Amino acid sequence: MTIGHYIAGARTEGDGTRTQPVYDPARGESTETVVLASEGDVSAAVSAANAAWPEWAETPPLRRARILDRFRAILVERADRLAEAISSEHGKTHEDALGEVTRGMEVVEFAGGAPTLLKGEFSENVGRGVDSHSVRQPLGVVAGITPFNFPAMVPMWMFPVALACGNTFVLKPSERDPSVSLLMAEWLSEAGLPDGVFNVVQGDKVAVDALIDHPDVKAVSFVGSTPIAEYIHSRGTAAGKRVQALGGAKNHMIVMPDADLDMAANALMGAAYGSAGERCMSISVAVPVGEKTAEALKERLVPKIEALKIGPAGDAGSDMGPLVTGEHRDKVLGYIDKGVEEGADLVVDGRAFRQDKQGYENGFFVGGTLFDRVTPEMSIYRDEIFGPVLSMVRRNSYREAVDLIHSHQYANGTAIFTRDGDVARTFSREIEVGMVGVNVPIPVPMAFHSFGGWKNSIFGDYAMHGMEGVRFYTRIKTTTTRWPKGQRDDPQFTMPTL
Ligand code: NAD
Repeated sequence: MTIGHYIAGARTEGDGTRTQPVYDPARGESTETVVLASEGDVSAAVSAANAAWPEWAETPPLRRARILDRFRAILVERADRLAEAISSEHGKTHEDALGEVTRGMEVVEFAGGAPTLLKGEFSENVGRGVDSHSVRQPLGVVAGITPFNFPAMVPMWMFPVALACGNTFVLKPSERDPSVSLLMAEWLSEAGLPDGVFNVVQGDKVAVDALIDHPDVKAVSFVGSTPIAEYIHSRGTAAGKRVQALGGAKNHMIVMPDADLDMAANALMGAAYGSAGERCMSISVAVPVGEKTAEALKERLVPKIEALKIGPAGDAGSDMGPLVTGEHRDKVLGYIDKGVEEGADLVVDGRAFRQDKQGYENGFFVGGTLFDRVTPEMSIYRDEIFGPVLSMVRRNSYREAVDLIHSHQYANGTAIFTRDGDVARTFSREIEVGMVGVNVPIPVPMAFHSFGGWKNSIFGDYAMHGMEGVRFYTRIKTTTTRWPKGQRDDPQFTMPTL
C-alpha cells in the first residue's frame, strides 16, 4: 500500500517521485511505502491552508470548538483503531498506544474550551473617557513537524490548539509511521472541519525545508531530536517566523536513601523500558545516592529486567515491543557495545535477547539493558540512546546528584524519589529542568498545563499546549478607544438657525 498526503480535504499521492519503505517493526518487514513530498506538494498544501484561512478565522470560536468536540467523540469511539495503526508502524504495545491516544485526546478536550481560552481583557477608563481592550488573533497558516515516537499524541499537542485559535494547519509527520496522521485528517473532516483547514504532507528534509521557507507559513512547531530542533529554530526564525522546537532528552531520576525502594524500582522499570525507551520523557539515568541505595536498587531491578515480556503489540501482557526500524535497533546495539568498551559494568545485556515467537524472529527487538558504574564522560551517558538502556550513575550525596543533572546538556524531565518533603521541595525549586516529578517518574504535564524542557531540550520561547500553546498560536492586539462627545442635547422643534 502507498501512503500519501491529505490536501484540501482529500487523499493524494502528489507529484513527488521519491518513496520510502514503512516497516512493521515486530516482523521486521516492509509492509507499505510512503511517498515523500516534493516542494510542489508542500506548496499545494500551504495554498489549500491559506485559501481556507480567512473563513476559518472568521468562524466563531464556539463553532470551532464544537467541531473539535465531535472529533474528540470520534477518537473515543475509535481509540482502538488508532492505537492499532500506531502499533503497526511504531511497534509499541496496544495498551501503550491507547495511552498515547488518551493523552492526545486530552489536548483536544482542552482546545474545546476555545471561547474561554480566547477571552480577551478589558480595562475601563485607562484615561478619562478612554478604554482599552486586548484580543488574541490567529496567525494564519501554521506548520507542525513531528517525530516517530508519538505519531498521534505529538501532532495533537499542536493542531487542536492551533485550530481552536483560528489558524489552518499543515502537518509533516514522521516518515517512519505516517498512516496515523491520515486517519486523524479524515476524522477531522468527518467531524465537520472544512476542507483545507488541516492538511498532511508526508516527507523528509525536502518537505521540511519547503515548509519552513514558505512565505505563507507564519509559525512552525517542531518536536524531534536536538540537532534538527536547533536547525529548524535557526532557519525558521531567520525567515521571521515564530518557532517552538522541542528536542532530545536524557532524563535522570535521583533515588535518595530514604526512598521507598520498591516503589522506585517499579517506577524505573516503566520509565526506562516502557515503549522500549523511545520516549522523550523516559528515564535513562538512575542516580542512586549512596552505595547502599545503589546496591539495593540494583538487586531489585535485575530480576525485573530479566523478566520483561518483550513481544509484538498484539500480545496481551507484552511490557514492551520492538524498536522502530532496523537502523535504529543497530544504533542502540552499537551504544551497548560502546558502553562495554568504555568500561561500564553491563549488568543485564539486552543484545542477547531473541524473539522466538513464530513470524516475529526478524523483528527489531532489543532486550532490556542495565549498565552500572557509568561515568559522565562515557558516550552512553552523554548521548540520548532512545532505546531500552538504563544507566546507573552512583553519587554520594544529594548535592552531587543535582550537580550531575546540571552538567548535562539536556534538561527535559527529571524526578526524585524520597520521603523527605524538604529535600523534594528544594529539588523542585532549584533543579534546572523543565518538567519535574516528585515520586512520579514520568512527569508529563496535563493538557491544561504546558509541555517543554529547558536548555538543549527546547529552542524557542513557548512550550506546547496549555496557555503557552494558545499564546504561541495567536498574536495579541490591544485597542485603545476614545469616542468624541456624543449628541446628548434634547431634540429641537423650532427652525434651526446658526
Ligand atoms: P528526528 O529529529 O529524526 O525527526 C523529527 C522530524 O524531523 C521528522 O518529521 C523528520 O522527518 C524531520 N527531519 C529529520 N531529519 C531532518 C533534517 N535533516 N532536516 C529537516 N527535517 C528533518 O526525530 P525522531 O527520531 O523522529 O524522534 C526522536 C527524537 O525526538 C528524540 O530525540 C526524542 O527525544 C525527540 N522527542 C522530543 C520530545 C520533546 O517533547 N522534547 C518529544 C518526542 C520526541
